[in-house]
Amino acid sequence: MRYVIKRDEDKTVRLASEATLAALTLIVNTRNLTLISDAVYRETYNTPDGRRSRVEDQLSIAYQYKCAYCERLTKADIEHYRPKKGISEEAGHLGYYWLCYEWSNLIPSCITCNRDGAKHNQFPILGPRVAGPSFLTDGQLDLALCRAHTAPLLDEMPYLLHPEIDHPEDFFEFVLDPNGEGIRITGIDGQLRGQRTIEICLLNRLELRLDRAESVISNFKDGIHGLLVQLQAGEIDQLQFKAQLLQCIHLLHTLTLREEKTHTYLRKYIVRTPQNFRDIVIPYLDPQAADIVSEAFLLYQERGVLG
Ligand SMILES: [Zn+2]
Repeated sequence: MRYVIKRDEDKTVRLASEATLAALTLIVNTRNLTLISDAVYRETYNTPDGRRSRVEDQLSIAYQYKCAYCERLTKADIEHYRPKKGISEEAGHLGYYWLCYEWSNLIPSCITCNRDGAKHNQFPILGPRVAGPSFLTDGQLDLALCRAHTAPLLDEMPYLLHPEIDHPEDFFEFVLDPNGEGIRITGIDGQLRGQRTIEICLLNRLELRLDRAESVISNFKDGIHGLLVQLQAGEIDQLQFKAQLLQCIHLLHTLTLREEKTHTYLRKYIVRTPQNFRDIVIPYLDPQAADIVSEAFLLYQERGVLG
C-alpha cells in the first residue's frame, strides 16, 4: 500500500454528470439498491485486447495500474471502499449505497484483495457507524459529506486504511517470513488499523510475500552475486568492486522514486535505515558479501549521494 493523490478532475465525464446525480438521487430517495448500476461506476467498453473500464482507466492514472492494497500491477476491479450493499459486520445496515458513485469511495483493487474471504463487504470501524446519507436543507443529498476525507465518514475511523487518506509509514513495517517464504508486512499502530488492514485484504498471502522478495530484492541480490563472481575470477579489483557495489545501492535508492514500480512502500522501507536494510536485504545475499554490503550501505547514506 502507498499513499496516493487522486484528483477530482480525473473523474469520468459520466460519473461527474447531472444524469448520474439524478440516478443517485433516485437511489437515495427510494433506497432501491437494485438501481445501483455498474454501467455508471465501472463503464466498461470493448477493445481488441478485451474489455476495459473507463472508471478503472481514470483510477489507473493515480494508482499507476497497481492494486490499491497489495501494490502489484494488476487488471484492477472497481472496489467500493465502503461497501455499497450491506456490511459484513452489521446485518441491519443497508451498506453505503449513497456512496456507490462517489469518487473518493472508488478504488482499484485486484480481484484477490477484493474477493469473498478477503476485503469484499468487510468494513469494521473504531468510531460511530454512519447510518445513512446527509441532506441539505432543501432535501438534496449533501455531496460534500459523501467524501471519505471529511466528517462524518472520517469519524468512523475505519480499520481499513484508505490509500488517499492514510500514510503507510504510520501503520506498516516489514519482516522476513520465519520460514523463508518471502517478506511479511506487519502492523505497527496502537489502534491496530495496520494489522486489521493486513487481515482484511490478506496482505500476507503466500504469493504476495514471495512477490515482494522477487520484485524488490531479487535484482539487487543477483547484481551483488555477479560482482562477487567477477571479483573472485579476477575480472575486477577491490576498488572496482566497491564502486559497482555503490552503484547497486544507488539503484535501490533510485527505485524508491519510481512510483510505477510494484511495492513502492517496501522499496522505501528497506533503504530508510541501516537496520531495515540489514534486516530485510542482507539475509538474501551471499553470506560472504554481508559485511561489505552493509558497510557500503552506511557509506552511501553518510555521503548522501553517490561518489
Ligand atoms: Zn491486490
